[in-house]
Amino acid sequence: MAAMMAQAAALADILELRMDLAPGVPLEPLLRNRPCPVIVTNRPVREGGEYAGEESARIALLQQGVDLGAEFVDVELDSAARIRRGPRTRLIISHHDFARTPDHVEEVHRHLVQAGADIAKFAVKANDILDNLRVLRVLRHTKHPTIALCMGELGVASRILGRKYGNFLTFASLAAGRESAPGQLTAGELRGLYRYKKIGPDTALYGVIANPVAHSMSPAIQNAAFEALGLNAVYLPFKVEGDPAEFVRAFRELDAQGYSVTLPHKQEVIAAMDEVDDTVRQAGAMNTVVNRGGRLCGANTDIPAALGAIEAALGVEGSAPSRALKDRETLIIGAGGAARAVACGLMARGAYVLIANRTQERAVALAREISAQAAPMERVGSLRPQILINTTSVGMWPNVEESPVPAAVLRKGMIVFDAVYNPPETRLLREAKAAGCQCISGVEWFVRQAALQCEMWTGRPAPRAVMEQVVMARLGRG
Ligand code: NAP
Repeated sequence: MAAMMAQAAALADILELRMDLAPGVPLEPLLRNRPCPVIVTNRPVREGGEYAGEESARIALLQQGVDLGAEFVDVELDSAARIRRGPRTRLIISHHDFARTPDHVEEVHRHLVQAGADIAKFAVKANDILDNLRVLRVLRHTKHPTIALCMGELGVASRILGRKYGNFLTFASLAAGRESAPGQLTAGELRGLYRYKKIGPDTALYGVIANPVAHSMSPAIQNAAFEALGLNAVYLPFKVEGDPAEFVRAFRELDAQGYSVTLPHKQEVIAAMDEVDDTVRQAGAMNTVVNRGGRLCGANTDIPAALGAIEAALGVEGSAPSRALKDRETLIIGAGGAARAVACGLMARGAYVLIANRTQERAVALAREISAQAAPMERVGSLRPQILINTTSVGMWPNVEESPVPAAVLRKGMIVFDAVYNPPETRLLREAKAAGCQCISGVEWFVRQAALQCEMWTGRPAPRAVMEQVVMARLGRG
């Protein structure tokens, strides 16, 4: 435990000694050799801890913490009156609810303050992303030193964002798998990925709205971009299980400056926008929210990002829409959301777009809707498009030996664009390279759409190289 304390002291300002997780470990030598301020906690089972012994022995250990001058002792609300105060110790009086965020969480806070807490602490389970708002509201409105957070996967935002609203501290684990409560991030993630120590009242809030969100690369990319630009901003993952429009409306009170929006919310979120741009009207889907002085504006950076990647391959990338794509024969494999975005962009540039899909009816329906053409998959082998775009998930990890088209289709000079980004070089791109095609990877598309978001939010050129490095490092780690 002493070795762990030394390790943790390099990452944290305060260490919590969870004595209930270390039965039989004597407190006195730990306190004598503490490398930084500590909280002594001895959590009983009824409050989510592991102490199951005699209550008097549990309280005695906490009292010992006070008597030995630990900086903080954490005692539960129902036991607070049993602790004798000491001159060097601040009492954290705490309440935990592992089942829910109570309806009147501000009353819970009031009871803790009235019980004489030097620092009032409550940790409650988030069952809905909106529970974070209720907990953050307490922090925003109190002047009393308070630790307030939501537990569980849905509560991650409160653990980070609390600092902006004056949270006295947040908890983090020493390593993944060593959390002392559900939803805890590691100290490394808090400090590195989210730059926790730099968060303050003026930090601008951004995030990604998705479900699931745990494996999203967007927080890593956008936080790295903000860091590279020297901006006081943080980008969080928001796991939205319900209606994304309701989430956006409710979170207006935190004045977020922008969101990325991804599966499955790209259509439903439109309802919460004050306005949307042409890209959203074209595609019927959006992936970006920009807060312009309180007006929420929806945009779709997937479309300009895909066009930018193709135009860069053609050597005509620039600010004015180029005519280089006019009448170019383009074959899109797939008829889902990615196909729709790419096809809409290409149609707007006057390209000749042919869509083929495993489920032929979907190709026909999409083609009809956007005035493109549909082709049966069986004909793909005999087509000679100038640009070939895979928008299916064929070839994606772990099925890396699959390709959406036979290698014989690939001809020298063709532009081949694969939406799949994991792995960065798919079998399709490998075969295309061997055939002398010009290749565009899904990573390029992904980074470009993220970079355009960053530019819309900040008004500054995005650090694309940094963003790409983050993606490649993540993919490299599997
Ligand atoms: P989606 O809406 O679910 O569409 C999936 C498409 O893939 C459909 O056309 C589907 O055909 C087809 N498909 C799936 N499995 C198939 C198989 N085994 N054989 C043949 N066709 C198959 O998904 P999406 O949002 O368009 O995304 C598609 C891919 O693009 C994903 O790999 C995604 O990661 C990637 N993507 C990348 C980026 C980027 O920034 N690089 C952006 C968006 C999407 P059916 O209609 O027959 O089911």
